[in-house]
Amino acid sequence: MVGKIKIKKEFISYIIRDYLNGIGITPLSKKYNVSSWTISSCLTKSNIPLRSASEQGSINLKNIRYKNSFILKIKEDYLSGLGITELSTKYHMNKNYVKTLLIKGNVKIRNAYEQIRFGIPLDSIAEKYLSGYSFFQLSRNYPLSIPSLKKIVSKFNIPHRSFSEQRDMIFPKKPKIPKPKIILICKICKKKFEPYRSPNQKYCSDKCRKKATNNRRINNRDIINFNRKKNYYKNRKIILEQQRRYYMKPKVNKRRIEYSKNYAKKNKKKISIRNKKYRNRPEIQEKNRIYFVNYLNNHRDERNTYTRKYRKVKMKTDKNFRLKRRLRCRFNHALKDFIKIGKIMSSKEYGIDYETIIRHLEPFPKDIENWHVDHIRPLCSFNFVNKDGTPNLKEIRKAFAPENHQWLLVKDNLNKGGKWNAKKSN
Ligand SMILES: [Zn+2]
Repeated sequence: MVGKIKIKKEFISYIIRDYLNGIGITPLSKKYNVSSWTISSCLTKSNIPLRSASEQGSINLKNIRYKNSFILKIKEDYLSGLGITELSTKYHMNKNYVKTLLIKGNVKIRNAYEQIRFGIPLDSIAEKYLSGYSFFQLSRNYPLSIPSLKKIVSKFNIPHRSFSEQRDMIFPKKPKIPKPKIILICKICKKKFEPYRSPNQKYCSDKCRKKATNNRRINNRDIINFNRKKNYYKNRKIILEQQRRYYMKPKVNKRRIEYSKNYAKKNKKKISIRNKKYRNRPEIQEKNRIYFVNYLNNHRDERNTYTRKYRKVKMKTDKNFRLKRRLRCRFNHALKDFIKIGKIMSSKEYGIDYETIIRHLEPFPKDIENWHVDHIRPLCSFNFVNKDGTPNLKEIRKAFAPENHQWLLVKDNLNKGGKWNAKKSN
């Protein structure tokens, strides 16, 4: 702050001197590079009365009277091409003051447009246009609009070029050079031909080209198939997803189901043969066996409850089933009682056929609850086991032969017990 005030104090004396000599506030502000407001405040602080605009004007005119040499200088500058604003900055003067000076010197003042055009050599514009410049290019080089440029050119009696003429001036056409004739030999039919696609054309026609691609496909079948498979496994997830989306479309789905139904109807034999072939493949059989065993192990409880339920219902409704089951129970019990060594085999392996036994027992009695199936020769009279502990198959077969079965009322059976007369039966 202190420094500023000091500088100002030095300036103030100069400013006051110049102002009293008759220079206005605006030219002073330009001269000392400060705002006009600070100058006026300086003057009022040092108690110097400010002049009004008209007073200032009259002083200016007075000064001009004595300064004809200065007017001549400004006039010269103006006629050489400088504008009024440029002059006002050059001589630190108000624009209007410069104007009044110029009017005093009998100079015709140019408007803004004339000022822009002043000093531009019109001949050179016309020459450039003739040499090939377009109006657009000229407008870039001179501070003039395209219509005014057109006016200038027509003043010199030069006809305007059309768009295509202008284009040809800028990009002159190249003369066409005829290409030398090429003759090639087709790789398929070995005939001479002129190439119409490219100079490296291999085949004379589309027909030969297709033949060549077909040949290539046949020769590289293995590679193509391999690549196709490779790509498939690479993008398998995406492809399957796409397929699934396609087949889920209701229209497609309906069509597919109908087609498969028709196919199954028409090709029953074919399909069954194919399925049989597939099932009999040893690796598939092995796979199925493993799957089945695994399934049994994993679903034991479910299966047991299911079979229990099934058996209960079946025992109530199916007479054959009930009978068969009873016979099997009896058979197992009998063998369990006698055979101590080794496992009890399935009844089939002992040569027992429940179906024939049942057929032998037909027709069933109506009040079946009151009847038992009786072994005519009691089981306890047979010798199921050999001396060495192995099962005696002959005896077992005899005991469970269909002829050894009969219906017997429950009370009679209880009375009979283990009694049996060998002579009687024989
Ligand atoms: Zn050919």
